[in-house]
Amino acid sequence: MNMHSSLSWRRGALAALLPIFAVVAQETGSAPAPSSAPAPASSVAAVAEARVLEVVSWLADDARAGRDTPSAGLEEAAEWLAARFKAAHLQQAVGGSWFHDYTLPGLQIDSTAVSLQLVRKHGDDKVDVALVADTDVRLWRQGEAVTGEDEGCTVADAADPVLQRLLFAQSGRQPIVVEVPEDHPFWIASKGVRRALAGRRAASRPVFLVRKGLLPPPPGDERDVAWAATWSTAAAEKIDLTLHNVVGLLPGTDKKDEYVVVSAHYDHIGTGNPVNGDGIYNGADDDATGTTAVVLLAEELAKLPAPRRSILFVCFSGEEKGLLGSKAFGERPPVPREQIVANLNIEMIGRPLEGNEGKAWITGSGYSDFAAIVGAGLGRAGVELVDFEMANQLFAQSDNYSLARHGIVAHSISAGSLHKDYHRPSDEVGKLDIPHMAKIITGLREALLELANRDAAPQWTEAGKKVMERRRR
Ligand SMILES: [Zn+2]
Repeated sequence: MNMHSSLSWRRGALAALLPIFAVVAQETGSAPAPSSAPAPASSVAAVAEARVLEVVSWLADDARAGRDTPSAGLEEAAEWLAARFKAAHLQQAVGGSWFHDYTLPGLQIDSTAVSLQLVRKHGDDKVDVALVADTDVRLWRQGEAVTGEDEGCTVADAADPVLQRLLFAQSGRQPIVVEVPEDHPFWIASKGVRRALAGRRAASRPVFLVRKGLLPPPPGDERDVAWAATWSTAAAEKIDLTLHNVVGLLPGTDKKDEYVVVSAHYDHIGTGNPVNGDGIYNGADDDATGTTAVVLLAEELAKLPAPRRSILFVCFSGEEKGLLGSKAFGERPPVPREQIVANLNIEMIGRPLEGNEGKAWITGSGYSDFAAIVGAGLGRAGVELVDFEMANQLFAQSDNYSLARHGIVAHSISAGSLHKDYHRPSDEVGKLDIPHMAKIITGLREALLELANRDAAPQWTEAGKKVMERRRR
């Protein structure tokens, strides 16, 4: 349901980019194979595919309900990631905690305080429907008004094709009532008292959900049916919402006061309108794959001799709501910001285009010498860096930008495609290329060692400095 508000790898922008991407794919696909040269061999120990599958399956499981910010599924994921960092013997970077917290304005929405009486009028025929709060009726969206007596309220079925338009209509004050089956993700998500991010615009009308089977069956001629509603809700209670980035520290040696941040976002877009009966947007590729990489990189590197620079392993929340977690991290990092020398942010590494298995690309790669440094490490695992047409446009579309805008050399690396399951319930584990992911993560381990161990930290190029200056203005 948050697809319209996603600011990251923007859906709208992507719709425009996809044709270009398809052309690139076609060109790659039609090019004659370069004398069927074998893929470059890996000279380093490979990360096991079974471990990749285990972590990404847990994160993208239906039980996490799509890891919306905020949600119980996201909280559970945060605790789990912290436990993995702890088990890997990382240290806490935030005094006494695995969580780097930030606070945003939120709302408390209370389905237990709803009152809704409906009257169906059909000719002279009137049917009263009394509904029990939370059991029969839940509040899906809080309106500005908290009480009303309305003739002509809209009653729709969850399967109604115009529902989407109705739900996002901001004008009008009459409530909308939506009939939903008990297993509908909206119904499940609206149970009891819940917390939500405060929207930028207040909706004028409330949306109620009514459990299917409680409204009288339609009479012969539905066109003559009119509904009236008498309703009230609790006043919208403004609250402070505390959200977590999960952070683990691997201390360095002779350069331990310099930090390399490796990151990915562990949130996704939660539940939404079902497609083919599936309303859980699992976000397996976006970005359970990147988060899986961060977890496995922590586990891998903690077993090796300590790197020269310290490494911060960071899982961001709120990316899909507008890079919220990484913004908070960039503004108030747990270590002095001027000591953070690089950020390797990992986005969508599970779905390569055909022929691009074992290949990766970096956003804004010409803006610094980061790609050359990282590429040297990737090469040891046989991972090749390739150009990607939209890589510069995507530079400011993910969490790396929240650090780059403060001057930190920060890029996102991707080893995937902008596939048709992007931000849909069908972005599921079964569609990931696990051998490809394992190879990429092996390469990322080597890339991190390059960033952490070489003498000089990465530097912006003149082109990169100009781009950052232009963006700051
Ligand atoms: Zn993403």
